[in-house]
Amino acid sequence: MLCKICNSAARNIFSCKVLNKYIVSYYLCDTCGFIQTEEPYWLDEAYRDAINICDTGVMRRNIYFSKITSIILYYFFDGKAIYLDYAGGYGILTRLMRDMGFNFYWKDLYAQNLVARGFEYQKDYGDAELITSFESFEHFKDPLQEFEMMLSISKNILFSTNLIPYPVPEPKDWWYYGPEHGQHISFYSPKTLRFLSKKHDLNLYSINNIHLLTTRRLNILLLRALCKCNNISSYFIRRGMNSLTFKDMELLRRSRSFAEK
Ligand SMILES: [Zn+2]
Repeated sequence: MLCKICNSAARNIFSCKVLNKYIVSYYLCDTCGFIQTEEPYWLDEAYRDAINICDTGVMRRNIYFSKITSIILYYFFDGKAIYLDYAGGYGILTRLMRDMGFNFYWKDLYAQNLVARGFEYQKDYGDAELITSFESFEHFKDPLQEFEMMLSISKNILFSTNLIPYPVPEPKDWWYYGPEHGQHISFYSPKTLRFLSKKHDLNLYSINNIHLLTTRRLNILLLRALCKCNNISSYFIRRGMNSLTFKDMELLRRSRSFAEK
């Protein structure tokens, strides 16, 4: 099997029972450290719910990601620009970011936008200053295609995924393989991210499981300090930004009454 990231030969490292019934082979690429499953024929079944039932961390994670995203945007990017949450799920992050005052839009080909309706990203909005995509890279069936689609909208991509520990763990030793829900099919190592950054001539910064690929050079010590003290950093951001919660409601009310005329 060829590696979906670097096209080198990938070797079978183990098999694992997915969705409690399918014996699935996993392949490791020694060139870029990427792990992929065999062709994932079980995805329709795995996605009967777009967000898997075992994902109890969905709210807690979105709140944390929104804080870290706001720090990066406020201190290192143009806080007034357009942003896109790619593979944005139910729209939770988009809504949280708009509540903080960042002009965020949502895009997802599979999930239903529940809480950020009215803020779907349209191509004619132009390029985004930065794209966020949290807990989606491990779901990508064709990660390179998704990554290049994101790059066509912005050269700054902030995303999260748990990196493969070293040495590569067996299925029973790493919960992130997630065979019980079958939605995780692409796994990245630090080497994979370095490969992607080099290929696209981008700088790579990682804070725990959050990664930024960007054309910009950031002061990593400052970034780490701001993220470590994220409650204090967020306090200054709240003071410096104007929430869009109320403005958005007015906007949607106006567009609705216009549509009803
Ligand atoms: Zn590879």
